[in-house]
Amino acid sequence: MTNNILTIALSKGRIFDETLPLLASANITPLENPETSRKLIIPTNHDNIRVIIVRASDVPVYVRYGAADFGIAGKDVLIEHGDNGLYHPLDLKIAKCRMMVAVRKGFDYASVSQAGSRLRIATKYPNIARDHFSQKGVHVDIIKLYGSMELAPLVELSDAIVDLVSTGNTLKANNLEAVEHICDISSQLIINKASLKLKHLQIQPIITNFTNAVEKNSQQ
Ligand code: AMP
Repeated sequence: MTNNILTIALSKGRIFDETLPLLASANITPLENPETSRKLIIPTNHDNIRVIIVRASDVPVYVRYGAADFGIAGKDVLIEHGDNGLYHPLDLKIAKCRMMVAVRKGFDYASVSQAGSRLRIATKYPNIARDHFSQKGVHVDIIKLYGSMELAPLVELSDAIVDLVSTGNTLKANNLEAVEHICDISSQLIINKASLKLKHLQIQPIITNFTNAVEKNSQQ
């Protein structure tokens, strides 16, 4: 939280792309594209507003410590890593997808996932997976992966995966199928609590513009 400079933490890819129209609604335009620029601090059309580009799972960390005043993070990241110390006033309804359990096509998930049985689950989301299966009474061995979860059941590293599914194309291309819906995911606005107090005059109009843009989008 540096003096009167407003710092916004975003991750590259879908969140950045889908955030651009929201930023535009608050008259904020990043001056470079993180896909082509190697810069991690991107200036905007306002001298006192900058965007920092960080990994999706690091966005809440930068905001929690005040290195960014606010940011945009997936609900998946907030559930998995916790949202302590963060104010999140608004579901932006962007980067929507579902947290699902998926298995190899033809794998008899219904009979192997009865209460009392034991399954090996590969995932980037060990906390979400553990909670889900403990509610079902299914014992799990969690194998933490950092990417390409879809590979795990194909090479028998795991029985199932817990991962985000958007179009379903990645599952389909790898001969997998979704068998259980854990929760719906979308991106949330997260704000550092001290920034909200100290930079209220700068931040509040942005929240208002984002709120109006989200409402307008959901009416379309
Ligand atoms: P799809 O093929 O459209 O179902 O996308 C699935 C792949 O994209 C998986 O590898 C997911 O981990 C990833 N994915 C889908 N939606 C999101 C999202 N909103 N945020 C981050 N990763 C996602």
